[in-house]
Amino acid sequence: MKLNDRGLLIVLSGPSGVGKGTVRSALFQMKGHDLVYSVSMTTRKPRENEVHGREYYFVSREKFEDCIRAGKMLEYAEFVNNYYGTPLEPVQELLNAGKEVVLEIEVQGATQVREKMKDAVLIFIAPPSMDALYERLTSRGTEPPEIIRQRIEKAKREICLAYMYDYIVVNDTVENAADKIMAIIRAEHARVERTIHKYKELLEVNDESK
Ligand code: 5GP
Repeated sequence: MKLNDRGLLIVLSGPSGVGKGTVRSALFQMKGHDLVYSVSMTTRKPRENEVHGREYYFVSREKFEDCIRAGKMLEYAEFVNNYYGTPLEPVQELLNAGKEVVLEIEVQGATQVREKMKDAVLIFIAPPSMDALYERLTSRGTEPPEIIRQRIEKAKREICLAYMYDYIVVNDTVENAADKIMAIIRAEHARVERTIHKYKELLEVNDESK
């Protein structure tokens, strides 16, 4: 398989509470895509309605640290006292099979992906305002005030890191954000470095027929 036949690694990242999860589900509900979601591993306890293997692989700290030591994580971060990370092997397998793999991760992890996978497409999902972010974090009703305060502080630091991404998408409405991300994915496919090999092959065929 040629390098360029590998699938696209799409990283959706941004502060907690910005709506990454909602935007991601809207994206996956759009027609005509071939996206695969990479399920993360975490040491956080499952919330109500969360299912092991669907939202996350819920594991112990010990198991997570074993995976880190064994080099089995593409990236990981400690976020509000829990580990979150992307298992490497399934991502590699999907990319080798030509699939479009979507990660939904926080900013520290996205920095590691930037380092390890140069051709990944990094999309920063930004809140329309800090007030909107606060609204979203509190209305979710799942976290105590101290955790929300920590998440807001972290969000401010993370917004400063948006420059290392390829794209910024403001989550003003979920539909707008999902539409823009789909447009980015389509445009990325048309990038010269991803498509030029096909034209080289075409020229080689023409040369042989001379
Ligand atoms: P939550 O506890 O709300 O599900 O997630 C907390 C934060 O961890 C969110 O910003 C979420 O995007 C991020 N997160 C989820 N999975 C991963 C992962 O595999 N790696 C990293 N670095 N962050 C993740």
